[in-house]
Amino acid sequence: MQFRTRAIHVGNERDPETGAVVRPIHIAATYVQPGSGDWGEFDYSRSGNPTRKALETTLASLESGCGALAFSSGMAAIHCATMLLSGGDHILAGTDVYGGTYRLLHKVIDKSGIEVSLGHSTDLEAFEAAIRPNTRLVWIESPGNPLMSITDIAACAEVAHRHGALLGVDSTFATPVLTRPLELGADIVMHSATKYLGGHSDLLGGALVVRDKELYDQLYFLQNATGAVLGPLESFLCSRGIKTLELRVREQCRTAARLADFLAEDPRVARVLYPGLADHPGHEIAARQMEGAFGAMLSFEIDGDFAAAKKLVESTSLFQLAVSLGAVESLIEQPAAMSHASYDRQDRLAHGITDGLIRISVGLEAFEDLRDDLEEALTVALGAA
Ligand code: PLP
Repeated sequence: MQFRTRAIHVGNERDPETGAVVRPIHIAATYVQPGSGDWGEFDYSRSGNPTRKALETTLASLESGCGALAFSSGMAAIHCATMLLSGGDHILAGTDVYGGTYRLLHKVIDKSGIEVSLGHSTDLEAFEAAIRPNTRLVWIESPGNPLMSITDIAACAEVAHRHGALLGVDSTFATPVLTRPLELGADIVMHSATKYLGGHSDLLGGALVVRDKELYDQLYFLQNATGAVLGPLESFLCSRGIKTLELRVREQCRTAARLADFLAEDPRVARVLYPGLADHPGHEIAARQMEGAFGAMLSFEIDGDFAAAKKLVESTSLFQLAVSLGAVESLIEQPAAMSHASYDRQDRLAHGITDGLIRISVGLEAFEDLRDDLEEALTVALGAA
């Protein structure tokens, strides 16, 4: 079955009892067992829930995994992956990662004696040199956040495996519509399901998908032991969102590509970071690694300072000033003050997250309306072109 057919049918088989084409939402916390010490498929909803399982089955299929685990948030999913490590182990992460991931690694994980360092995953030679004898997990995002850097996932998997480390890929921006990291050699793919998978800004969730059954069992153990599972209502909403995932993502990518072209021609814009533009440093890899489109996230740097960027993001009307991304409504934000505020300022600037950087998540509104909205905000913040 093709991707979009699987998104609708795998995990979503009709309810055998009633014939309902949409499965019921199972809110039960516990399940009657056949006998004392005889366990049925479900026993307690932290360990397994039919509505969550339906979502996990769909996700495993879409990401070409052997199994998936749905979490209460993207951060809970990343945290679970890091729990594979013990004190004395090392995590090497890309520099272009979500601010919350940076915070988790530098302000929580490091407390348990796990070493953390960042490296430029776009420069694989330097990245490999940053691997230590005790590196057990390499963690990247592609496209990266917020600079839309592109990492060669297949090459990165080879590097990680050569040194005995696992490769985890936060593929929230790409979605399985565009990139399937497990097919490229990654060991773990992670999503903030809050974003494109849900797609409607109405749920918080996360997911890990893996190829290897042994790794799945380890992660399942950790998830069950620590408990950050996705609730049944959110699981249902996410399953519903996934049914239109491919349509939404492809259309949002089309509009994003047109907006990138529009911004690239504006003299008030210093640079546009969008992997679909030929001058983007990761364009060639993205063309290979992303199927038919370059994503619906883009960042741009204005010819102005922090205050001008602040003014711009506060001046749009259709683009709503909010963190998060990937939903049907377009959002705008200033990474330095919002999504990446948890970076140390020095680290943030060193990684190219400047004060004048603006990130947009392109939704499903008409291109013309979004273009006019940006044009007006540019004029308010920086004057006429
Ligand atoms: N990864 C990326 C790329 C994100 O953008 C986010 C959230 O913005 C997360 C992870 C964390 O996900 P959540 O907010 O669902 O915990």
